[in-house]
Amino acid sequence: MTLTPEKINEIKAQLMGLSPEEQQEKLQEILASLSPEEQEQLVGKQQCPFCSMVSGEIPVKKVYEDADCIAILDIHPASKGHMLLFPKKHYAMVAQMPDNEAGKLFAAANKLSKAAFEALNAAGTNIVAGNGAKAGQRAPHALINIIPRYEDDKVSIGWNPMQVEESEMETIAQTIASKIPAEKLKEEYKPVIKKYDAREEHLRMP
Ligand SMILES: [Zn+2]
Repeated sequence: MTLTPEKINEIKAQLMGLSPEEQQEKLQEILASLSPEEQEQLVGKQQCPFCSMVSGEIPVKKVYEDADCIAILDIHPASKGHMLLFPKKHYAMVAQMPDNEAGKLFAAANKLSKAAFEALNAAGTNIVAGNGAKAGQRAPHALINIIPRYEDDKVSIGWNPMQVEESEMETIAQTIASKIPAEKLKEEYKPVIKKYDAREEHLRMP
């Protein structure tokens, strides 16, 4: 069942003239009498769980916090000490974050990664951020995974390397570079095309 426009106007009328606190109280009372579908129609989708962790509504095992971000232990870890680092402000993915905020987030990720080496005696770490469902992002909030790696762990992060023609590589590199604002593209950041060398294969992740 959905709310009719008349019903919505009636609810609005009930909230009119109340103080913000009274409005909240009245709204909760009204919401309690509605179906989940009607609730969503009235106040939108349920709040993002990661935003609820930031506000303390959902309890977490916090390992780090600063003015901009927070890191917790993943409740379904890939390995012991698997951490989730996310901005306090809601972004749907890391790619939507302004560069300065993403910079702070990655700096915090590096701190956590270093801590994993020291505190957990990790043999390595993976720092993984997925942008979008296709990239494996399941959370509705931007986040970075910091996954400590141990000898004989069962973590799998990988891909099958493909061959791309040198000319196409050149086009891809130039297309990417053209989308980066010119004032930021200093000489040293310009793409260097390197020939594929199978001997370097062992240097790839994981
Ligand atoms: Zn959120």
